[in-house]
Amino acid sequence: MDNLMKEAALYEKIDKDRVRCNLCAHHCVITDGKLGVCHVRKNLNGTLFTLVYGRTISQHVDPIEKKPLYHFYPGTSSYSIATSGCNFRCRWCQNWDIAQMPREHGLISGSEASPEQIVSGALASGCRSIAYTYTEPTIFFEYAYNTARLAHEAGIANVYVTNGYMTSDMLEAFHPYLDAANVDLKAFREKTYHRYVGAGLKPVLESMKVMKRLGIWLEVTTLVIPG
Ligand code: SF4
Repeated sequence: MDNLMKEAALYEKIDKDRVRCNLCAHHCVITDGKLGVCHVRKNLNGTLFTLVYGRTISQHVDPIEKKPLYHFYPGTSSYSIATSGCNFRCRWCQNWDIAQMPREHGLISGSEASPEQIVSGALASGCRSIAYTYTEPTIFFEYAYNTARLAHEAGIANVYVTNGYMTSDMLEAFHPYLDAANVDLKAFREKTYHRYVGAGLKPVLESMKVMKRLGIWLEVTTLVIPG
């Protein structure tokens, strides 16, 4: 077994062969040997594994305004990480190559980096926060969670740059360590979401309400595509 595989959080066993992942609003029911919609969570003999734990496809120091967050420690840098994979399939995605790599190519690549190494990198580069970004951080929740806990111990804040399609269970589990989020609200109609993204709008709106209730600093981005 791949030594980076780790048992997933937030799933339930339905029967001997099937599990239900409750990390995002797809709530994938996954049979033995199969993957969820994101293609980075796999059922092996009735246990759900994350395939991207500790495997970064991107690590950069970015201005927090590039996330974009304009009212959360403005003028500071954010240590920005991602793994491959996404639970959406936006036709306009600018990070398609890494977001859809597992789905399109059956490939999960990247460099090994432990949560400790990520936090050390953030400290060494003088970052005020760590951003879980570029792809959809919900799908690498376990990795983000363990990194975020260590980040708080080191006095570093945590930021999610997200499509907002996570479950309230995920937010409830993460919120002691999640300080801010930018939700990319991609459209205002259900049919637009279903047509261009492969998911629904309602769970995204619900997530934003839950974030507010939990006291997570929230900023919202809406992409405008000319033409
Ligand atoms: S994270 Fe979402 S898309 Fe991936 S397996 Fe879980 S429910 Fe499915």
